Amino acid sequence: MFIALDANNERVSLLHYSEYDIVSCYSPPFYCPSCRQPLILKKGTVRRWHFAHQELSSCPSQTEPETAEHLAGKAKLYSWLKQQGLSPVVEAAIPSINRTADVLVSVHSQTYAFEFQCASIPLEEMRQRTNDYLSLNIYPVWLFSANRIRPRKQGYFSIRAFEWTALQERLHDYRHALLYFSPISSTFSFLFPRIVLSPSRIFADFYSLPASQTTFNMITDLPLTMDGTSPWKPEWLRLKKEWRFGLNKWQNERDRAYVRQIFAKQRSDLPFFPAEAGWPSLFMEYFKSPAYIWQSWLLLVVIQPLQLGQTFLLTDILPVIQPLITKGIFPIRELPLVKEPLSKALTQYLYVLAFFGVVEKSDSGCWSKIRNIELPLSLEQGFYLDKKCVKCIM
Ligand SMILES: [Zn+2]
Repeated sequence: MFIALDANNERVSLLHYSEYDIVSCYSPPFYCPSCRQPLILKKGTVRRWHFAHQELSSCPSQTEPETAEHLAGKAKLYSWLKQQGLSPVVEAAIPSINRTADVLVSVHSQTYAFEFQCASIPLEEMRQRTNDYLSLNIYPVWLFSANRIRPRKQGYFSIRAFEWTALQERLHDYRHALLYFSPISSTFSFLFPRIVLSPSRIFADFYSLPASQTTFNMITDLPLTMDGTSPWKPEWLRLKKEWRFGLNKWQNERDRAYVRQIFAKQRSDLPFFPAEAGWPSLFMEYFKSPAYIWQSWLLLVVIQPLQLGQTFLLTDILPVIQPLITKGIFPIRELPLVKEPLSKALTQYLYVLAFFGVVEKSDSGCWSKIRNIELPLSLEQGFYLDKKCVKCIM
């Protein structure tokens, strides 16, 4: 911690004064602004000077000892925000939700809580903290430590379940990203997921920018991006093949059992899912089910029964799928910083179907069915149609 209260209840900030000034102007005891317990001034040579609790257990605002990285990150973010001409507050206590934001800053009439997250935390804790801020109309900006970027081979990354909660969107083009910060190199990084290969593995576009070239708007509205190449296509075909063979790395079984009944009514089964299902689409991360499951559902339940040329709206689909989500048949990821993620995920898949010539969007926003869906009659036919489809998309 950089902030303490002295015996006169005066706020002592280690970020505002030199170490010399601190020693000459202030003397112990120091107290925690949040829990009022005594703090020790740690005059570190490796870690920056900081305050620490003698015992952490009962402080609501700090449950684990602070690492050098967390201290350095807070200090760097604080000074970066000042360089942007803003008036940040470090370790801002927000008593009504019993939280302390790493750095709080207001721009125009919006308040932002910058949280520099180095350690893994439980998904529930991450959700709670995000929702606490949102309940006060404070927008949380989650910056993960750059050490949390886990690249696999080129373009592929590992993602932990709790990290998805931080997914931030850009409103005008549906792109969304996770944000990272390195206090050592003073660099912001942005991971824009493009496809979700498995619950913990994504293909993403990755950008890094020195803090000196990063503006506040790039953090809240994300920097402009260009889609790179799509080296994942052959891998995606392999994945579809695995699905047709019944191999599945996804845990949930309820979604498959449910969709299987729908196939059974057509005297078919999951391995013979339509070739137009099971494709990457933006916001597919909203669904925890594999793409071929929820997309097959949409094709067979919503689109197949329509006559050719018959129109439908997104708002016709929502009341049909929502109960399945509520019942947990289609499990989803909560993305609290994304507005209407379900509508977006469905719309983006409809655009993929438009590529395949299954539906068409009119200027009025109505969708219409323009081609019938066929279920492959053999696995070979399924593989063949998948290959035909992959040439149409992106
Ligand atoms: Zn405390």
